[in-house]
Amino acid sequence: MDYEGIFRNAIEALHAEGRYRIFADLERCAGSFPQAKRHGPDGVGEVTVWCSNDYLGMGQHPKVLAAMHEALAACGAGAGGTRNIAGTNHHHVLLERELAALHGKEAALLFTSGYVSNMATLATLASKLPGCVVFSDAMNHASMIEGIRHSRAEKRIFRHNDPEDLDRQLAEIAPGRPKIVAFESVYSMDGDIAPIAELCDAAEAHGAMTYLDEVHAVGLYGPNGGGVSERDGVAHRLTVIEGTLAKAFGVMGGYIAASAALVDFVRSYASGFIFTTALPPAIAAGALASVRHLKASTAERDRHQERAATTKRKLRAAGLPVMPSASHIVPVLVGDPVHCREVTDRLLAQHSIYVQPINYPTVPRGTERLRLTPSPLHADADIDRLVAAVSQVWNELDLARAAA
Ligand SMILES: *Cc1c(COP(=O)(O)O)cnc(C)c1O
Repeated sequence: MDYEGIFRNAIEALHAEGRYRIFADLERCAGSFPQAKRHGPDGVGEVTVWCSNDYLGMGQHPKVLAAMHEALAACGAGAGGTRNIAGTNHHHVLLERELAALHGKEAALLFTSGYVSNMATLATLASKLPGCVVFSDAMNHASMIEGIRHSRAEKRIFRHNDPEDLDRQLAEIAPGRPKIVAFESVYSMDGDIAPIAELCDAAEAHGAMTYLDEVHAVGLYGPNGGGVSERDGVAHRLTVIEGTLAKAFGVMGGYIAASAALVDFVRSYASGFIFTTALPPAIAAGALASVRHLKASTAERDRHQERAATTKRKLRAAGLPVMPSASHIVPVLVGDPVHCREVTDRLLAQHSIYVQPINYPTVPRGTERLRLTPSPLHADADIDRLVAAVSQVWNELDLARAAA
């Protein structure tokens, strides 16, 4: 059996399609975000990062760094075990209390990542509720899809952000069966936002639980950074709110917030929670400092929204095809994987601007794009340099501009 040949052929297929992934070898520089060092074939250069999910720059915030240094010095490096066996540190307990309060829920539970929180929670709920049917938004993230698949529960896919289609499909299932409706608030590739209240209406009408992934919204929306569900005043209607500590909060880890009974159920039955070492105390301490800071401070959120709006406006003014987005995400349509890669290669090589090309399967074929994430730390000069550079590359490659 030629195992090596199988691996090489599979990789060759990705090259042929122009969607082979290449990682940029970056060195983030605390205090200088969004600038970073990049290790390339010709040595080390400086780049401006335009695609980070550290949306607010909390990864370099003095309060976060101080909390991490302090916890590292006080508690050492690792957690020392799983949560059940010697790994529960007081920082985890404090962070879970803070996250429960952030979402107005009775309890919260930490996981090692947002991916694991989705995978483990959905797999556990959907497999342990006898006869459960999961209704999954067509654009849901891979981590939710994996959790649902792993549960082996019946799955129905409803049209993206479509409460009527959800309602119709819910009505087809026997009223006595347990049901979970799983969706996101901000969809991170298009930047559109779910009609949470309407989806909850449909779920409630059919006695279904609701599971909301707020990964791209926590820290960023709502008066306290509780996400779109807080902004829209509907957090109390959701059975489970899931979030990450790795994007706007700038550190690492994932969590769910829900009723005490549901959280205890997942804590007690989820393999992906039980059988893995807890987050290091310093990570939990940094995340706690970040959540607390963003609960009290709206300056970062306000500036973030303003920077995103300004970036969209300036790109559009230059005739570049910014896709409609109701959030802080700025997608620019290329529509072809080879061109998409070429645009980002040129931005990096000629303009020291780092944007990762977004290709299939992350987005549907034909909608390959740049996904820009302006932050409060991107200055006017950064935005102007970006627009000029993208515009120049668009001309060089003769790419389609937006209809005026
Ligand atoms: C990034 C992401 C996750 C996973 O969160 P991590 O903390 O990075 O593992 C979950 N859901 C969505 C929608 C995401 O984009």
